[in-house]
Amino acid sequence: MKLNEFVKNKYIIDTVKEMVQSKRISGTFIFEGGTGSGKSEIAKALAKIIVCQDGEYKEKHGDACGSCISCIKADKNIHPDIITAEPEEDKAGGFHIDKVREIIDELYLTPNESDVKVYILEDLQNMTVQAQNALLKSIEEPPDFAVFIITTTSCDLILETVASRAVKFTMEYIDSEAMQNYLEAKFTASDFSEIKKAIKFSNGSIGEAMDIMTKKTLAYNDMDDHIKVILYAKAKNNNEAILAALQQLTLSNLTRSELLRFYAALEIAARDILIAKSFINEYHEREMLNIMAYFEDYEDIEALVGLYSKEKVYELLQNIHDFKANLDYNINTRLNIAGFLAT
Ligand SMILES: [Zn+2]
Repeated sequence: MKLNEFVKNKYIIDTVKEMVQSKRISGTFIFEGGTGSGKSEIAKALAKIIVCQDGEYKEKHGDACGSCISCIKADKNIHPDIITAEPEEDKAGGFHIDKVREIIDELYLTPNESDVKVYILEDLQNMTVQAQNALLKSIEEPPDFAVFIITTTSCDLILETVASRAVKFTMEYIDSEAMQNYLEAKFTASDFSEIKKAIKFSNGSIGEAMDIMTKKTLAYNDMDDHIKVILYAKAKNNNEAILAALQQLTLSNLTRSELLRFYAALEIAARDILIAKSFINEYHEREMLNIMAYFEDYEDIEALVGLYSKEKVYELLQNIHDFKANLDYNINTRLNIAGFLAT
């Protein structure tokens, strides 16, 4: 793809174009966003621009020409100076250490066809801290001809020392109304609550919402039920219910990104409770539902507001935050969710 073909993320596209036009493409770039946010596509488009041989076109349009031999090779993923590394598995530690060593070993070899070597490191959050540390040295003092393009679901999940050295772009998400319209047009036969659920768990990413709708990912219907069960069980310290939720969640063998989605949705639900606690006496049912990001049933809001003190919600939010961060070190999603539920 060329930058001109992207419809979303206009701010990012314009900024990248400006950087291309003013020849400021060097060092490390990070594109942060969820699955389906378009971060990989932009990373590839930028790599293509970097190797494109038509300097005049680049200066004029801030984009790749799309027709030179380098552009054609880039499109076919066969350009020798675009080196892509991605995790073999969708989990922390999913990056093979050999791949990281290979990158470091070959970094100082001059480019083959182009003036530049572009390294696309996909989903860097799945690289262990040790491997990131090893890589850091290269990113810190790269040869002039090397450019790193990193994609990640969240900069919080990669070493700060890596993130702080980079030009960072956060992919914008489309709002839920636009997403709803889009999904309703696309999945006319689906019922409304299914679309709502997809939006809830998509973290604003249209690609993720599409995956959920086409059932390529975990059954989010179940996840929705689990979240409610967990919120009630945690409030009442109901060990039996927590155990049941744990059993079901570990049975579904969550991948790391599914677990991250789960925590993200739980976080939204917890924030809803916090907001509801402040407004429950002033707002009517309809007004309250309007400001809720997660809940659709007023009975749930009323009940949970009664069960949770503000301190208890803060505690829950802190736990979610901690266990999300733990996923960085603990590659076992079962242990992670078990730990979270036991806390
Ligand atoms: Zn070109």
